[in-house]
Amino acid sequence: MYNHAPKNYRCPFCEITHSVEKQDRFSVLSDIVYQDESVTALVASHQYPRNTPNTLVLPNEHYENIFELPPALGAEIQRVAQQVAFALKHEYNCDGISTRQHNEPAGSQDVWHYHLHVTPRFQDDWFYNHIYHKVKMPMAERAEHAARIKSYFMEK
Ligand SMILES: [Zn+2]
Repeated sequence: MYNHAPKNYRCPFCEITHSVEKQDRFSVLSDIVYQDESVTALVASHQYPRNTPNTLVLPNEHYENIFELPPALGAEIQRVAQQVAFALKHEYNCDGISTRQHNEPAGSQDVWHYHLHVTPRFQDDWFYNHIYHKVKMPMAERAEHAARIKSYFMEK
């Protein structure tokens, strides 16, 4: 009723959180900006061109959506999301931040592992008019963004 992952789903986010290096199909290890024992944050493989770098915060263990996620882990995810938000403000001087999280197909979920988007916003960016215009960002460019966000975490 709450779950939609196909049988034998090979979860791309579990591969990342468990440090499986792989081809540049979606996320790779160089996208990671922060990781601790329960949570990972990474620069998303697909980006909104006017709102880069969209960053994702996810649990290391596999929980499909808000219905499965233990609330205590949700608090950890929120804690890291706040740090990512500070990093985006500090490094990209954005005017605002949006956090968004999708559940089930009707809720626009497309990767079956809980993830919270932390998105930099800019004055008059018309973000919601461009929400379906996502493009894959080259791996090297993502790595540059990841290093920049990571540098904020290192400073602290
Ligand atoms: Zn997973």
